Amino acid sequence: MSLADHIRHESARLAALCTACGDCVRACPMTPYAPGVADAEPGAVAAGMVEVLRDGSGTPEARAWIAACTRSGVCTPACPEGIDPAFMLRLATWRAKGALGDAPLIAVKEDTQFSPKVKAFARLTLTEEEQAQWL
Ligand code: SF4
Repeated sequence: MSLADHIRHESARLAALCTACGDCVRACPMTPYAPGVADAEPGAVAAGMVEVLRDGSGTPEARAWIAACTRSGVCTPACPEGIDPAFMLRLATWRAKGALGDAPLIAVKEDTQFSPKVKAFARLTLTEEEQAQWL
């Protein structure tokens, strides 16, 4: 399965499990930094995030929440369904940044040093043979 297919599969699976109760939004420490989210109904913000997982564009508040996510993981234990909102947000972030080939829904920061940083990290963990093959 390709990474894109994995994103699609996991998006559909988790979107089907989410009841849009909003508890993950209530638990999130980043809502004060996401424009409009603190004043929005938490369930509506969560529903907008689920919409992104279903190939939609979500609401402005949902997109702001997705963009503000810092992967704290505080949302995950708050979910009464036992699903993983932090992973849902990760999927939504990838999708909102255009990982599946669609136009981005949120700002994408270009990091010109991203590739060199990955290589520097990889050199710490790969054998010389693997480095010769992959770097
Ligand atoms: S807490 Fe769980 S069920 Fe409720 S909106 Fe968030 S992910 Fe969905």
